[in-house]
Amino acid sequence: MSRILIAEDEPRIAAFVEKGLSANGFAVTVVGDGHSARDYAMTGGFDLMVLDIGLPGVDGFTVLRDLRAERNPIPVIVLTARDSVQDTVAGLEGGADDYMAKPFRFEELLARVRLRLAPERTAELTVLSHGGLQLDLRTRRARVGDRTVDLSAREFALAETFLRHAGQVLSREQLLSHVWGYDFDPGSNVVDVYVRYLRRKLGAERIATVRGMGYRLDAVS
Ligand code: CA
Repeated sequence: MSRILIAEDEPRIAAFVEKGLSANGFAVTVVGDGHSARDYAMTGGFDLMVLDIGLPGVDGFTVLRDLRAERNPIPVIVLTARDSVQDTVAGLEGGADDYMAKPFRFEELLARVRLRLAPERTAELTVLSHGGLQLDLRTRRARVGDRTVDLSAREFALAETFLRHAGQVLSREQLLSHVWGYDFDPGSNVVDVYVRYLRRKLGAERIATVRGMGYRLDAVS
């Protein structure tokens, strides 16, 4: 199991990332200030760090610079506010492996985390399939039986989330945070709308409504 260190002082974002990564099988540790981020990363006990730039104590730039000065090779994905992306990229001086502008969707972060971890582990994840439905994550193509189906980016992300949790009931809130991100209004009916789109394209019987709980991807023979 890969171990991920999250350095983020905004509790809502830290919880959002922690929940999502744990649900995807990662062991997650959260710290909320720059000194702890540096100390934890220096232990060598983590495979990757998600690092916020605006941290109390010492900021993310300093944490990263100190780690690289110590020749610590931990892969780092930096989180930054959207309006300071340019400053951030300039300030990273090649010390970060990737960066993400806030707000971001969980699936975007997950894809980058997987990419930065051992490539042999990500290779086996290129095609997801369940009960006659197939998603190729490299070509972004969907197939139902021997028929190719065109999905929009959002439909694809929703289908991917269902396939990664095939047979499990996923609540609207879970789907919203996985596919749309933490900044989305929890009262929105966008999940129901997109489930309807997917049913139309993939077959209505494939996505079951579980009353009062959410939706579940079913196998269709
Ligand atoms: Ca912050």
